[in-house]
Amino acid sequence: MPELAEVEWYRKQWDVGRGDAIVDLALHARKRVFRGTNARAMQRLIGAKFLNSEARGKRMLFKFSGDTWLGIHLGMTGTLRVESADYRAAKHDHLVIRQRTRALVFRDSRQFGRVRFHHGADAPNWWRDETPEIVSAQFNRRWIDNFLDRHGKAPIKAVLLMQHGFSGIGNWMADEILWRARILPSRRTMSLGLNERANLFRETKFVARRSLATLGKNYSEPPRGWLIHERWSRSGVCPKHRTPLRHATIGGRTTAWCPRCQM
Ligand SMILES: [Zn+2]
Repeated sequence: MPELAEVEWYRKQWDVGRGDAIVDLALHARKRVFRGTNARAMQRLIGAKFLNSEARGKRMLFKFSGDTWLGIHLGMTGTLRVESADYRAAKHDHLVIRQRTRALVFRDSRQFGRVRFHHGADAPNWWRDETPEIVSAQFNRRWIDNFLDRHGKAPIKAVLLMQHGFSGIGNWMADEILWRARILPSRRTMSLGLNERANLFRETKFVARRSLATLGKNYSEPPRGWLIHERWSRSGVCPKHRTPLRHATIGGRTTAWCPRCQM
């Protein structure tokens, strides 16, 4: 499932189409990805120019001329790609935006993703959000302390997956952060000491920044020595000292941790 770095990479794929007008649109209007959206109104996009885009956590917003906006969430299996102008939409290509020399394609086989349309001078209401981006200055100790205090009873792993606190963090990044901060994922959030909170804050920033600089920049692998390279396999080991990793479902997600590093 795409997390903030993967989302940033996908967002940039459509950049090549900036400044160009949309000449045609093909969409599977009845598919689940358009739930809650007036897909017909999206015809307004024809003739509009693609201006720019922005990502917040796992969400993206694409701005077009004529006060038109497109919101995209990749869900579990969504991707954004660029194809040639004569590209023929495949089964799971639920939205194909045609420009004169290319096609901007949104594909989503499992359809947990979502496409939303908005017409208006200002960004849509559903885009507004008080949650600061992790790499921003507003995501600071005070913010994180306040959030942890409000979710004291939940396991820390589950809290890290809450998008209104840790915007864009998903399963693998949460495990990476907790491993680096040496905190057991099942720990109740209220049991974290001051040092542990400080570590959690520092490692959250670090993992977000480094992921954006690798995966988010050119889809290259996260640095060697990270947990991600071991966590998917049942025979995975701690990158630090080769202790076999443990796995369990925490916060509804398969979680990996090192019994030696994390307490
Ligand atoms: Zn370890």
